[in-house]
Amino acid sequence: MRIPSLAIHLDRTANEAFKFNNETHLTPMLATVAKVCNHGEKSLEKDSATISSNTNSQMKHHPILLQKIAKNLGVEVSQIRDFELCLYDTQLSVIGGICDEFIFSPRLDNLNSSFCSVEGFIDSLQESKSLDNDTNVWMVALFDNEEIGSKSAYGADSTLLDSTLKRLQIGGNLTSFEQTVANSFLVSADMAHAVHPNYFEKHEDNHAPQMNQGLVIKVNANQRYATTSATSAILKVIAEKHDLPLQEFVVRNDSPCGSTIGPLISANLGIRTIDVGNPMLAMHSIRETMGSDDVHTSIEIFKAFFKEFSEVDSKFIVD
Ligand SMILES: [Zn+2]
Repeated sequence: MRIPSLAIHLDRTANEAFKFNNETHLTPMLATVAKVCNHGEKSLEKDSATISSNTNSQMKHHPILLQKIAKNLGVEVSQIRDFELCLYDTQLSVIGGICDEFIFSPRLDNLNSSFCSVEGFIDSLQESKSLDNDTNVWMVALFDNEEIGSKSAYGADSTLLDSTLKRLQIGGNLTSFEQTVANSFLVSADMAHAVHPNYFEKHEDNHAPQMNQGLVIKVNANQRYATTSATSAILKVIAEKHDLPLQEFVVRNDSPCGSTIGPLISANLGIRTIDVGNPMLAMHSIRETMGSDDVHTSIEIFKAFFKEFSEVDSKFIVD
């Protein structure tokens, strides 16, 4: 499918900003009527008949779409009861930049943090026996629905993580869960805004993270990010030990601030949390940009975190 924009020639007022009406201008093109009529008219008629005798949800959709879905799934159209269909950019990610320093890709926010955390987790297990001697449980939790507020049965603002931790049944006394939470540490990883060379003024002067300069610690006095000085200190110690770069981001006081699942989980569970993310440009555009070096850096930091958190934390005293 394709959602073509209106040619700029046909609306001179659109010059300043790319504007569209969400209801009327974003309907994707699936096919042209002429082609659909020439191509398999008979089978469409057959499927239309099956569909009309079937559930209402199937009647809402064009037979050619249902045929395509059924073919991809290897089922009959009549076997489709219902579905949730999401469109996304199918162009592959590419490395770009004259020194190969960029990744141009859809959905870096937040597949990149998901990828880096899982990679760091796997690497941490392969290279050492740290887990064998650790009394902590190591966990990566990846949540759906963050972009719509995390309020769903399996979003970060649900009881999923709480229930999962409880099901692990750590310890045996009445307050073992609460003790576990108090000893735990959450690295909430979501993407960060790199300073844009064409919009330098959008960043606070002293907190303008750059691509390829390392993972960004995100701080916000209004707790849109859950980082505290105590939590950032722990990650800084680990990064310093491995000579891995970290940057810091604080939004301008005259600018709105994004948020992450960090404050939600931190508040729901009462768990120490730091918000971090790789710096990127054009967040939420169909083709986002990040620095290629930052992938490796954050995998290394996550790996080191899993392996060394217990030891570092045991030496930490917060007054
Ligand atoms: Zn986002």
